Amino acid sequence: MRHLAEGVDRFQREVFPAKAGLFAHLSTTHQPHTLFIGCSDARVVPELITQTDPGELFVIRTAGNLVPAYTPGGDGIAASIEYAVTVLGVADIVVCGHSACGAMTALAEGHDLTGAPAVAGWLRNADASRARTTAAAGEDRVSALVRENVAAQLVNLATHPSVARALAEGSVRLHGWRFDIADGTVERLDAAAHPALAA
Ligand code: ZN
Repeated sequence: MRHLAEGVDRFQREVFPAKAGLFAHLSTTHQPHTLFIGCSDARVVPELITQTDPGELFVIRTAGNLVPAYTPGGDGIAASIEYAVTVLGVADIVVCGHSACGAMTALAEGHDLTGAPAVAGWLRNADASRARTTAAAGEDRVSALVRENVAAQLVNLATHPSVARALAEGSVRLHGWRFDIADGTVERLDAAAHPALAA
């Protein structure tokens, strides 16, 4: 915790003054251009990867960057998606998976999750992606599942009425990414192979 407190001190002393103008502007304006949906994994930091400033990304992070398909009634994720698309009017939505994803590895390798029932239940959202990648083996299987999972979340996103409407109007574009922790590269999923993606 001391590490965090020292970070806050340094932010207020060095970082905030350098961006005082930006924060003054942001104090009355919230107009992010992109909804970024990533994994909760501590190693995947959206603003760092994309080198964006505060105010640019509206971020949702979940275990395994999973976005359940729309169901009436809604939840926190559905509400955040709707707010970003309908109220804030983001122009782009990125779903970003990553290498060495604990959630995707647990699924691909069939880890015993009886001690983490909430995780086990949440990962059921990736059942179809897992089923589509059973033919791959070893490390390839995790990578294949990460990519397939990103593509599946883009399809799920389109079931949310706010996203469906924006897609029909051509006011939002979907993008699928895979971030590699070891070398820092961002792979963009091929639009030809995944019709949900923006070309
Ligand atoms: Zn992950």
